[in-house]
Amino acid sequence: MTIGFIGLGIMGRPMAKNLIKANYKLVVFDKFAKFDDLVSLGAEGGTSNKDVAAKSDIIITMLPNSPNVKEAILGKDGVLEGVKNGALVVDMSSIAPAASQEVGAALKAKGIAFLDAPVSGGEPKAIDGTLAIMVGGDQASFDKAKPILDKLGSSVTLTGDIGSGNVTKLANQIIVALNIAAVSEAFVLSTKAGVDPQKVFEAIKGGLAGSTVMNAKIPMILDGNFKPGFRIELHIKDLQNALDTAHDLNVPIPLTAGVMETLQFLKNDGHAASDHSAIMRYYEQMAKIEVRK
Ligand code: NAD
Repeated sequence: MTIGFIGLGIMGRPMAKNLIKANYKLVVFDKFAKFDDLVSLGAEGGTSNKDVAAKSDIIITMLPNSPNVKEAILGKDGVLEGVKNGALVVDMSSIAPAASQEVGAALKAKGIAFLDAPVSGGEPKAIDGTLAIMVGGDQASFDKAKPILDKLGSSVTLTGDIGSGNVTKLANQIIVALNIAAVSEAFVLSTKAGVDPQKVFEAIKGGLAGSTVMNAKIPMILDGNFKPGFRIELHIKDLQNALDTAHDLNVPIPLTAGVMETLQFLKNDGHAASDHSAIMRYYEQMAKIEVRK
């Protein structure tokens, strides 16, 4: 079986490496980034998204947002132009659920199966192969993809029909953004009140306020390290998809709207490409204090 892997950025590159390590035959392609490192590890270099599809039984895409996925799969020289009968396309990007449904329908019209399978866990878990993977699609396609997804993640869950993977991911992204904002607000207050933030972290991480988000982000913040990781501009993209999806369903999401404005400020303040832990910078600027070791 040959796996096509399209989109070799922060997440896609280590994921592709894990599949090579698991002895899968890979054909890889990225429209903008080089991929000589993957070729030297044994992958075949593709020449276009169409070329990758023509050589693969399962095609995985890991791209920024809905327009990139639509272009790579449905556009000129895209997957749909080259895809073989019986192939399965698995989009692991975080995109709007409606876009997943649109891509799935276009592939289905050609008899091609599709799963949306976005991930949570960021670059470290992409490297370790311990991502949380939330999948939308039919059971037969899920069963076909599962052994491959098991090499990329430690939890792989079928959540419902096509689009439900990305609905689940939107829920995930709301919780992560609000959690970083809550941690930031609390640590700015306790630091300004004169308590060592390292001690606050040690004291509360095992209690009810503890979270995976706090464990991952507070050490970075205390070091003043806002290198991505997960870029502010990608979180803006996810929250925009969350707001659009919620408003289509007449669901108000006021806390998400609030943190979205924080992210807009940070983008203007030169942090579009910083890690989303830079949400702390907004609270620090308001309180005129830095939360550092
Ligand atoms: P990235 O920008 O680093 O990588 C995306 C890659 O896609 C780039 O190398 C780009 O050149 C390529 N690309 C764009 N359009 C293309 C096209 N039409 N054809 C072929 N290649 C194309 O982004 P990333 O951080 O790897 O994130 C990818 C997806 O995973 C996003 O949807 C993101 O929200 C999601 N995600 C990221 C993280 C994280 O921590 N970085 C965590 C969970 C989920």
